[in-house]
Amino acid sequence: MRAKTKMIHGGITNDEKTGAVSVPIYQVSTYKQDGVGNHRGYEYSRTGNPTRHALETVIADLENGEAGFAFGSGMAAITSVMMLLNSHDHVVMTDDVYGGSYRLMTKVLNRYHLDHTFVDTSNPETVEAAIQENTKAIYIETPTNPLLKITDLEKMATIAKQHDLLLIVDNTFATPYWQQPLDHGADIVLHSATKYIGGHSDVVSGLVVVKSKELAEKVHFIQNSVGAVLGPQDSWLLMRGIKTLALRMEAIEANTKKIVEFLQGHKKVSKIYYPGLESHAGHELAKRQASGFGGMISFDVGSEEMAEQVLGKVNYFILAESLGAVESLISVPAKMTHASIPEDRRKELGITDGLIRVSVGIEDVDDLIEDLEQALR
Ligand SMILES: *Cc1c(COP(=O)(O)O)cnc(C)c1O
Repeated sequence: MRAKTKMIHGGITNDEKTGAVSVPIYQVSTYKQDGVGNHRGYEYSRTGNPTRHALETVIADLENGEAGFAFGSGMAAITSVMMLLNSHDHVVMTDDVYGGSYRLMTKVLNRYHLDHTFVDTSNPETVEAAIQENTKAIYIETPTNPLLKITDLEKMATIAKQHDLLLIVDNTFATPYWQQPLDHGADIVLHSATKYIGGHSDVVSGLVVVKSKELAEKVHFIQNSVGAVLGPQDSWLLMRGIKTLALRMEAIEANTKKIVEFLQGHKKVSKIYYPGLESHAGHELAKRQASGFGGMISFDVGSEEMAEQVLGKVNYFILAESLGAVESLISVPAKMTHASIPEDRRKELGITDGLIRVSVGIEDVDDLIEDLEQALR
């Protein structure tokens, strides 16, 4: 089955009992057992719920994995995956990782002595150099947020194998439509499904897919033990989102390319970060390991004042955190999504106060371009 077909026919897509073509919302916590210890596959909804299970099977299919798991948020998914590790283990992580993941490692999991080193994973040598005796995992984002740096998935998989490490990939920006990290040798792929997978700014959720049966058992044990599960209603919303993921991503990317062209010709825009640009350092690599460049653009307008002007004047780009929705969203990472990263570290990474991040939606692109044009004027 090809990706577009999988989004409609992958996993469990209908209700066997009634023939309902959309999996019903099983709003239920517990299940009648036919005898003591004799249940019909479900006993308690933290452990398993038919609606959540249907979602978990379709995301596993989309990522070409062994099993999928749904969580109450992207951060719940990431935290649960980190719980595969023990205290005094060490993780090598992408340096411009999502702000919440940075906060989780430096303010929460550090208290449990889970060690980390942040490196520029787009350079494999720095990854090798950061590996210690107690390193157990490499955790990457590609493309990254907000600078859209690209990390070589196959090189990371080779390093991970050599040192017997787990390779964990946050695939939120690329989506399973454009990029399947498990096919490039990753062990675990995860998503903030709040973004493109949900796609309509109406649900907070996280998804994890693993490559092996062994990891599936371990993640299920943690999901059930820790209990950060996704509810049935939100699981259903994600399945609904997945059905149009391919169409949305195609429309979003077509719009994005036109907006990038417009920004390239604008004199107030000094720098554009988009992997689809030949001038982008990761362009060739992105072309090799993903089938699309996505819908995120970051660009520098030179100053905090100019950035604030643009954000204040746009009509169709909604000033909001988050990304990956049908509506276009705009933000200043330094003041919003990346505010939890200390200022000197932000400067180090290149996240300036004049950097604007746009998540392109599916509106008419001419309206979006006109909107940016008047805001920049
Ligand atoms: C939003 C986001 C997260 C966190 O997900 P939530 O659903 O907000 O908890 C993790 N990684 C990336 C890349 C994100 O964009």
